[in-house]
This record gives sequence, structure tokens and C-alpha cells, in this order.
Amino acid sequence: MYVYVVCSWCNKVLRTKSLGRPGGIKTGVTHTICNSCKEEVMREYIMSLKQIRPEQRQSL
Ligand SMILES: [Zn+2]
Repeated sequence: MYVYVVCSWCNKVLRTKSLGRPGGIKTGVTHTICNSCKEEVMREYIMSLKQIRPEQRQSL
């Protein structure tokens, strides 16, 4: 059985992984995140943290 490792953000196939006996015809998909999307997500996360300024936090 072969499994496609697909980035769930950009749907890019990153690699294939063989499970069990080789030569199987069944295929499956497993989702992960690729390095470029990981960087993008982390950047957005850090940006969203920086958007909350200390003075705004105090007034909440
Ligand atoms: Zn991606």
C-alpha cells in the first residue's frame, strides 16, 4: 500500500510512503504541512501575537 503525504495547506504531494508489503495497489492520503506552509503559518501566528499590544491588553 502506498500513501501520499500531502500538505493540507497547499495540497502539494511531498512524498510517497509505502506501508506494509511492497507492490500493493491500494493508495491512501495522509496530511501534513510542508516547510514553506509551516513558515507561513508561524509568521501569521507571530504577527497575530504582535497585533495585540500591551496597552490594548490592559484595556480589555
Ligand atoms: Zn504546503
